Amino acid sequence: MRTPATDEVIDLCRDLIRIDTTNTGDLATSAGERAAAEYVATKLSEVGLDPQLLESRPGRASVVTRIPGADSSRGALLVHGHLDVVPADASEWSVHPFSGEIKDDFIWGRGAVDMKDFDAMSLAVVRDWQRTGYVPPRDIVLAYTADEEAGSDWGAKFLVEEHPDLFEGCTEAIGEVGGFSYTVSNDLRLYMVQTAEKGIDWLRVHATGRPGHGSFVHDDNAVTALAEAVARVGRHRFPVVVTPTVRAFLEEVGEALQIEIDPNDPEAAIAKLGPIATMIGATIRNTANPTRLNAGYKDNVIPGRASATIDCRTLPGQFELFREQLVEVLGPDLEIESIHRQPALETGFDGALVDAMALALKAEDPGAHAVPYMLSGGTDAKSFARLGIRCFGFAPLRLPPDLNFSALFHGIDERVPVEGLQFGVRVLDRFLRQS
Ligand SMILES: [Zn+2]
Repeated sequence: MRTPATDEVIDLCRDLIRIDTTNTGDLATSAGERAAAEYVATKLSEVGLDPQLLESRPGRASVVTRIPGADSSRGALLVHGHLDVVPADASEWSVHPFSGEIKDDFIWGRGAVDMKDFDAMSLAVVRDWQRTGYVPPRDIVLAYTADEEAGSDWGAKFLVEEHPDLFEGCTEAIGEVGGFSYTVSNDLRLYMVQTAEKGIDWLRVHATGRPGHGSFVHDDNAVTALAEAVARVGRHRFPVVVTPTVRAFLEEVGEALQIEIDPNDPEAAIAKLGPIATMIGATIRNTANPTRLNAGYKDNVIPGRASATIDCRTLPGQFELFREQLVEVLGPDLEIESIHRQPALETGFDGALVDAMALALKAEDPGAHAVPYMLSGGTDAKSFARLGIRCFGFAPLRLPPDLNFSALFHGIDERVPVEGLQFGVRVLDRFLRQS
């Protein structure tokens, strides 16, 4: 069914993609967030809302607005999406990554699924409400943030720390990454609602040794010690830990695919999940991937110190235990420095809000079955959860069965199906009206 919102979402999504909001993580090169925030603020004020544009530093802008509900004494619902995107190299793409081109029934471009699609959906829905005078059952707070792709410091984290009053009364939130379909058969699609996400623990490890001349016999070389430790960590597989969310997901998937899943040995079952196996495979254990190396300053000088960065992702409740296991793998001689840490999140797949998600999906897709899952990455939810908000990943999207959705995130030829986007608008509208 076509509505003003399902029509408008297409242009909103294309417009947002055309604003290059690349976030490299380097403050000097981040561009476009302010322009995107101004675009969003204009779209909100055009229909009578009173958005606030907040800059954490020049150019790093986010937008927040509140839509008063019929019963403001109820807890408010936060609907959030980030405006920044990861870099894209145009030479690798079939279309220009900032063109927002429509081709083969998809909108193409960086941010098409991560996550200007959802930004456009929420804009389309509330603009329609405002134009028709619809009042939601409870307050809705909309937040469009900067800097999610580089850790949220200049976006969600800034808003939560410096402007917590904007989120006054918010009890629940929806944002990325969830609500997308995984096709089991013609009449069964699992919609993956994110109820948990892993924690982030970026570490720098340092090895020290005796500096010296590169021509001598030398048995206390920091580079050698570091290289050995890094190789051990990179090859190590931490033990399988099945958390309540992953257990619930595996049970649902087992039933849907009619396969036997041994919760104590879930790897075999996950391997059968096709494109989402990569996403799910990382949620049954803590992981530690070496990502950077740094040592030396001259070809014939043995440096006294060598360092590596390790990107560790921890399951809910596993942080302390994981650190102990990591030290065992690294060995006792390395110094560990914490450079960025955000806790894991996990909430139950129950309650009225979850029921509203399942019902809204079912109304638009009779073959829909909502299931909980854990995201291996991190999102702005980590910041909003600090305010005591119960966070879900629910950005509804119906996908063609053969689309490798997880590969599109930060991938080449990122694109979103036009019909899927319009489906998302209808589901989001229904869900918000029932929330
Ligand atoms: Zn994202």
